[in-house]
Parts: sequence; C-alpha cells; structure tokens
Amino acid sequence: MRQKIVAGNWKMNLCFEEAEELVEELIDLLEDVELKADVIICPPFPYLEMASDYAQEELFNIGAQNISPFEAGAYTGEVSASMLKSMGVTHCIIGHSERRKYFNEDDKMLTAKVNQALMHDVTPIFCVGESLPEREAEKHFEVVRRQVRHGLFHLDTGEFSKVIIAYEPVWAIGTGITASPAQAAEMHAYIRSLIAERYDDQVAGQTLILYGGSCTAKNAAELFAQPGVDGGLVGGASLKAEEFVEICKLAI
Ligand code: PEP
Repeated sequence: MRQKIVAGNWKMNLCFEEAEELVEELIDLLEDVELKADVIICPPFPYLEMASDYAQEELFNIGAQNISPFEAGAYTGEVSASMLKSMGVTHCIIGHSERRKYFNEDDKMLTAKVNQALMHDVTPIFCVGESLPEREAEKHFEVVRRQVRHGLFHLDTGEFSKVIIAYEPVWAIGTGITASPAQAAEMHAYIRSLIAERYDDQVAGQTLILYGGSCTAKNAAELFAQPGVDGGLVGGASLKAEEFVEICKLAI
C-alpha cells in the first residue's frame, strides 16, 4: 500500500505573523484528527525555520518551494539543499509550472535540482503537467513523458524510489478548474507505465504520484479516490487551515 500524502504549497503568500498563525491553527486542528495521509507544508523560505520548529510536534513535515541546483558558494540569492536539510526540511517542490514559466527553469536545471535534493536526503516533489494549448492539441502525454524522462529518468532505481511525482495540469493550477477524476486517473496510470518501462513494475507500483490543481475540500475526495492517485499537492486551499485539514482527511 502506498502512503497517502497531502502537501500544501503556500507559494509567495502571507507575512510572518500570518504564517505563524496558520501553522498554529494547523497544529490545533491536526492534533484532533487521525489521518491516513502524511502532511507536508511548504512555506516560503523565510518561514521555514519557524515552521520547522513547530514540526517537532510531528504533525507535519516541512517542504521548501525551491532549491539551488548548486552545492555551495558564490550564488547570490540561492538556498542550497544542505542548508534546507540543516533546518529540518524533508521535502522540496521541484519543477513547479510557475518556476518553469516565470524563472525559465529548464530540464537541465531541474535535473541538477533533483540531484542536489537527493544528495542531501531531501525528497523531491517533482511536478509535471501540460498547458491548456498542449492538452487541446492532444500533446499532454507527450509533454508529461518528456518532463518525467528528462527530469527523473537519469536516476538509478534506488534514487528514483525516493522521488514523489505531482501531476499538475497547468490549466488547473489556481484556476478553479480541476482535471476530471478520469483525466487524473488516466495521466497517473500513464506516468506509472513510463516508470514501469524505464525501471520495473515494482518501482512503478511503489512510486507516489500526487494530483495538483485547484484541489478543494469539495473535489478532493473524488480525485483522491482514483486509482493511482496517492494524494494531492494543494496550493490556494492550503492557506486556509480548516479547508486544508479537511482535504488531508479525504486522503484515505
Ligand atoms: C499548486 O500551485 O501546486 C497548486 C496546485 O495550486 P492550486 O491548488 O491553487 O491550484
């Protein structure tokens, strides 16, 4: 049985006080529930230390939203994998469509980020997904195949088994439009078939693949119930403690 995961991507939101309040609210709510899913919260860099201190209560893990492709040194503004690790960060979102789009992160850079994360025992949550024109042109499988292959398939079996994949159709992110449960199931099965082809059925069967894109407490149950969907990467709804915890409860 694959472990269910719900990860919250806070993106570039909240001031410090609001972030601390959200963490405290999450703790209050999470203390009262027994979840099947592991919870990960991914606050902006400046709040990682605060969130990591609260994570000692073992109700959630901490993920970063970005990681440097470099090891250390003269890279102004960068945050390295070893720095993240030393602050208690266990996961990192890599290849989010917003970073691919606004920061020109290409396959080569993403590969370097994945390698850095793994080298320092930080679990990559590697995002893939097609844009609307790509889906309309029926290129979605081709696009996702390229992203998965170029970003991850250089890894050996041991390394690859530490990676979490998130299928996030770009047209569903922050739009209020989700993939239909059937579309999500279809793409998750396709990704798993690629993994089986590159590695083997066992590795494919063990890989965690999350769905992301306008997940809410209203639609998560149906999405998470699809075969091959192991939970979610949640953006907007992760900024509301009650709704986020409701979503976490739906990953069963
Ligand atoms: C995301 O940014 O990873 C995401 C899924 O955002 P939203 O839930 O807001 O669509």
